[in-house]
Amino acid sequence: MRGTLFSRALVLALLAGALTACICPRPSPPPQLAPSPPTTSYPTNEHTVQAVLWVQRSGEYRALCHQAFNLARRVLDEELKANPAPKKRAVIVDVDETVLDNSPYQARLVKTRQSYAPATWRQWVDLARAEALAGAVEFLTHAAARGVEVFYISNRRIEEQAGTLANLRAKGFPNADDAHLLLRTTEGSKAKRRAAVSATYEIVLLLGDNLNDFSEAFDGKDAATRIAEVDRLAKEFGRRFIVLPNPLYGDFEDSIYRYNRGLPEPERDALRKGALKDY
Ligand SMILES: [Mg+2]
Repeated sequence: MRGTLFSRALVLALLAGALTACICPRPSPPPQLAPSPPTTSYPTNEHTVQAVLWVQRSGEYRALCHQAFNLARRVLDEELKANPAPKKRAVIVDVDETVLDNSPYQARLVKTRQSYAPATWRQWVDLARAEALAGAVEFLTHAAARGVEVFYISNRRIEEQAGTLANLRAKGFPNADDAHLLLRTTEGSKAKRRAAVSATYEIVLLLGDNLNDFSEAFDGKDAATRIAEVDRLAKEFGRRFIVLPNPLYGDFEDSIYRYNRGLPEPERDALRKGALKDY
């Protein structure tokens, strides 16, 4: 009897299980993940994540931009009041990370684990969608309204002229034309382009995020020499030279790589770590 009851219970249980399997929907297979980007033990540009976040998400970065342009305005206004102009006056500004914010390009490099490449950079430039740095348009408009011409001296390549002008115009920058945008042609040093402007104009101010925006004394120099040169020129900062913060890239980093931009990422990583000063 007990055996019969057990057999019946077993049959019923099996039937119930089969019925449930027929009625209940099958659990969905796990969603297919997009193919992973190529991984390496040294994810390219991972070291810039904190810098990109600081530029894009910190009030401190934005405050420093306002601070730089507020100071520029004060210096310019004092200059205009104090001195008769021997020549027409000009302000020289760099473009990238001085008046235009390219942090979205840097963020894209991080997300796609790519290095900077001229082709992807050109795509970004041609989009002409970089935002202006906080305070940049206001300061330069203020200068232009007082008869001070603005020259944009940038190491963007000459084929990026149209995209750069489109971006500057879209954001409302003054003097955004071919005569005032001096891009790189043959050499990275900006000395000759600065000299060309100063032949005709009294340069009141230079604004940049990289020390080579101010003086050729910094061109191609190692990190220690750059710092020593900054100390030598200390009185110029906040007076004739005004620096914008840029932790994303620049000669500060290239000097650590000894300006060897073709180094593989593991070697760059080793040089970065080797350059850290602890106690
Ligand atoms: Mg720059």
